[in-house]
Amino acid sequence: MSGLVPRPGILEIKPYKGGKSRLEEKSEAIKLSSNEGALGPSPKAMEAYRALAPDLHRYPDGACADLRAAIGTRFGLDPARIVCGAGSDELLALLARAYAGPGDEILRSAHGFAMYAITASGVGARPVAAPETDLTADVDALLDCVTPRSRVLFLANPNNPTGSYIDEAALRRLRAGLPDNVLLVIDAAYAEYVGRNDYTAGERLVDDHDNVVMTRTFSKLYALGGLRVGWAYCPEPVADILNRLRPPFNVTAPAQAAAIAALADTAHAEATRAHNDRWLPWLAEKLTECGLHAYPSVANFLLVRFPGDGGRDAAAADRFLNARGIIARAVADYGLPDCLRITIGREEENRAVAGALADFMVAGGGGTDD
Ligand SMILES: *Cc1c(COP(=O)(O)O)cnc(C)c1O
Repeated sequence: MSGLVPRPGILEIKPYKGGKSRLEEKSEAIKLSSNEGALGPSPKAMEAYRALAPDLHRYPDGACADLRAAIGTRFGLDPARIVCGAGSDELLALLARAYAGPGDEILRSAHGFAMYAITASGVGARPVAAPETDLTADVDALLDCVTPRSRVLFLANPNNPTGSYIDEAALRRLRAGLPDNVLLVIDAAYAEYVGRNDYTAGERLVDDHDNVVMTRTFSKLYALGGLRVGWAYCPEPVADILNRLRPPFNVTAPAQAAAIAALADTAHAEATRAHNDRWLPWLAEKLTECGLHAYPSVANFLLVRFPGDGGRDAAAADRFLNARGIIARAVADYGLPDCLRITIGREEENRAVAGALADFMVAGGGGTDD
């Protein structure tokens, strides 16, 4: 028997399961399980990535100076208060590690992004979930969960997997209700998709307060998930803490170069967003027509609820889609056993999943087509 004992909380972690990317029987699956940008990466990002091949022996710029400058210019932010990470996941974990530990509590809303609970347990803190209203974060319920042990509150806005969001007024009310020693982390992974006037990704809240951080990612609209690039916009003292704690070369050189090129390719980003604006409502309508419930979404995916009668439940639908070479995301782990999450894909992928689910609703769980 080993004498090694992991730190408190780690054995409580149920390892994160990403969206499946392969089906055993099918070589070419339609992957709608991880919210990756439908149009793929910018051709300019691919070019920048390839161009670095001869220089792979060189360490990256550990400060990500050019990337932070590019982000600052693109979003009108002070580069000195931007910290880049190997995906925003790394930054979320570093924030938890910086501000919470054994005996502390880390808050999220009930159907919040799965990494928050994992991250909390990973630093030995207790993950606490506040109930939601209509699958949307509930400011009062979150504030009700605050105790003297609370240290960090993670809020995905918009949230994955529900697709719902809270508006700027609600976000400000949430911040105002938090004690000064609780860090509000606004995870705005899908901000680029949101087209609502009352929405904010949170930049101004970061400017206005000492205890707010906004995290962003290149994995979703910019479709660079394979490269792992995210960033956080922070109050100066929080940026300083992250820079002490992060590994010195946490973002690879090709990842930095590709992210810079992706930011410069505003036409590709705009095309991705316009594509989503067209196909998100299209898919929601098709699914509604065949008797499914698609929850309102401001991101690039839909949470779809199955009726459950006649074998028409989410697990059966998942298998039915797999048999047709389509991968959706089961969200039972998120406390949503009667739902699947479906990413908006390319036109033919959206038509394929809409057609398959229409057939499923007629055939029910008993019917398979091969
Ligand atoms: C995908 C996702 C992330 C993680 O993004 P990475 O930058 O790839 O680590 C963070 N938060 C939410 C809500 C997400 O859906």
